[in-house]
Amino acid sequence: MSKIEKQRYERPVIKKLETGMPNKFGLRTEYAPKTHIEDNSVKDLVKEYGSPLFVISEKTIRETLKTAKRAFSTRYPKVQFAWSYKTNYINAICNVFHQEGSWAEVVSGFEYDKAIANNVPGNKIIFNGPDKNDNDLRKAINNDSLIHIDHLEELYSIIFIADELQKRPKVAIRINMDTGIYPMWDRFGFNYENGQAWDAINKIMTSKKLDLVGLHCHIGTFMLSANAYAVAAFNLADLVINIQKKYNYNVKYIDLGGGFASKNTLKGSFLPGADTSPSFDDYAEAISTALLNSNLDPENLPTLILETGRALIDDAGYLLGSVIANKRLSSGKRATILDIGVNIMFTSFWYEHKITPAQEFTHYTEDTVLYGPLCMNIDVIRENINLPLLNKGDNVVVHTVGAYNMTQWMQFITLRPKIVMIDPEGKVHVIRDNETNDSIVSLEKTPEHLKKFEL
Ligand SMILES: *Cc1c(COP(=O)(O)O)cnc(C)c1O
Repeated sequence: MSKIEKQRYERPVIKKLETGMPNKFGLRTEYAPKTHIEDNSVKDLVKEYGSPLFVISEKTIRETLKTAKRAFSTRYPKVQFAWSYKTNYINAICNVFHQEGSWAEVVSGFEYDKAIANNVPGNKIIFNGPDKNDNDLRKAINNDSLIHIDHLEELYSIIFIADELQKRPKVAIRINMDTGIYPMWDRFGFNYENGQAWDAINKIMTSKKLDLVGLHCHIGTFMLSANAYAVAAFNLADLVINIQKKYNYNVKYIDLGGGFASKNTLKGSFLPGADTSPSFDDYAEAISTALLNSNLDPENLPTLILETGRALIDDAGYLLGSVIANKRLSSGKRATILDIGVNIMFTSFWYEHKITPAQEFTHYTEDTVLYGPLCMNIDVIRENINLPLLNKGDNVVVHTVGAYNMTQWMQFITLRPKIVMIDPEGKVHVIRDNETNDSIVSLEKTPEHLKKFEL
């Protein structure tokens, strides 16, 4: 005789969802170790060049740029890329972009001089940014560079210097606008909706001293909406059309800046960036459709300039590191200390970087916090990552670190490591040496009376 047995009551539990866990059923854990980067063993690279070590794949840069160019040039007839120096201005990296046909996009006198020293022709340097002093402007005007004006003070300085040098500067204005992305970036350039942009255009056109060659807009960074670019492209096209009507004058280019998302995963994202970031095709489709469906004269289309930074370089960069130690926190959570700190991996403040062991491992995994080597509470590389046990001396590979880390890193507590580039034949080149005590101290000056002490 059967009887339905009353089930035992079980107390419900609330389980905290950790960031990094896609859902309550957990994460796929069986990922593969990353033992090699393009046929170079991670262990050998670390042995030869030290740990931590930045590694750049030249092949990946070239392939990514080709994919981006193809996406745009198959949809719009005139396209020009300009490499955003601040995203990564290591000379070897800039020169890969220049060899592939990219111009230079710079945002300071320092970056401008770097592009000139790399032998970029002056008329292929786009000079953005809110801080260009009179010397920077003189240099840029003498070199026929494309000066993107940020504010009226700069416009007046350029008009004044044009007289002094008896030259016709080539300028564009930077325009900010509401593209449906908030908070709106309205601190750079002239606003579209409130008439500031037209005010600047009218001042430039009636001065008769400057060539208004372009209109520029950089709506933000890591933009997950391709449609925001369609709005920007449509508004800039509208200005080009109305400048033509009012002044019978053709603006040569529309520059949509940078900001395309890379395949990184933003902190707090539900799904990995590789699955959610729009592709170059998505951005290109939105932008080219907006331009071609506008009333721009089809026989006289402006060149489309793109200053894409992170989406072109992030994938090409890896950071190799080593395990210093493991410990248990008071909560019982496992903590692993790496020799990679936030001082050299600035982007760990925004991203949940993919991090892979560089050697075989057992498939038992555990939620782990990854700390850097700094004696600073904020030195956290990943707050929560599901990893197999790593032992002291084991290596890890951090993926997608090509953008901003090699420019925003700082010398703090530890010295900055080497950067190597793997060329398409697999040969390794040091493209920036590690810092040494001497290289840091060489900039310091100790007054005579402070040179000696006794303890
Ligand atoms: C930073 C910047 C870029 C590059 O931005 P990414 O997000 O790296 O693509 C392009 N143009 C301007 C004006 C910038 O300030």
